[in-house]
Amino acid sequence: MVKSRKPKHGDVLKRVEHLFDEADMVFAKDKQLANRYIALARRLAMRVNLRLPSHLKRRYCKFCYSYLKPGINLTVRLNNGKLVYYCHECKHHFRMPLHNK
Ligand SMILES: [Zn+2]
Repeated sequence: MVKSRKPKHGDVLKRVEHLFDEADMVFAKDKQLANRYIALARRLAMRVNLRLPSHLKRRYCKFCYSYLKPGINLTVRLNNGKLVYYCHECKHHFRMPLHNK
């Protein structure tokens, strides 16, 4: 009997990134479907304890897990050197540190 091997982080990350791209593509037409892709991506990542890279983390709301698109359901403001994200779906604010590298 062959036990199914745990997928590698790199492979999972690729699939997760692909799901975010899919979410981006369907977002304009079907927001709910976009959110389902995000839920799927998060589940995939969780299963292998993969921490989502920051460029993906800022593409969904950590309160309601909606896919966020700047100018549509997301407002980004700069405040004291921190980026403040405002989700229009659940009206929550959250902060992201600026990339400084
Ligand atoms: Zn939200």
